[in-house]
Amino acid sequence: MRCPHCGERDTRVVDSRDLDDAATIRRRRECNACTTRFTTYERVEAARLVLVKRDGTRQEWDRDKLVSGLRKALTRRPVPDDAAETAADAIEAELRAAGVSEVPSSRVGALAMERLRGIDQIAYIRFASVYQSFEDLADLKREVDSLFDEKGSGGLAK
Ligand SMILES: [Zn+2]
Repeated sequence: MRCPHCGERDTRVVDSRDLDDAATIRRRRECNACTTRFTTYERVEAARLVLVKRDGTRQEWDRDKLVSGLRKALTRRPVPDDAAETAADAIEAELRAAGVSEVPSSRVGALAMERLRGIDQIAYIRFASVYQSFEDLADLKREVDSLFDEKGSGGLAK
């Protein structure tokens, strides 16, 4: 880091502080030659994450879009206000932890369904009915039955 005043490379950090949720660090530096003080900002560069859609088109990862999809499914359900955000963050963290830069949208959908299933079953069914585009009531019933089976109550028909 060159001193903006004299061009000296020998500078030292006199103060550091985190800005906006620690994604940015602001540093005060002092030039060891002319003692000019200046400020630098250091930001974490998030790795790119690209979504590959079913038709093969690619688009930049959009957390907000996932949040709004989850929020729609969770509308008026007895869950915390930030349930959609929390779930989206967990999904994004899981995708990033996999360390790949391209993710099929089907993977995101599957992760979202998995999360919703653990949060609220009505929200899960709502999301699944849109995402998996149930062809008819039989598809829907199969999905609902699987939830009842999990609870050990033996399905809707009984
Ligand atoms: Zn200097």
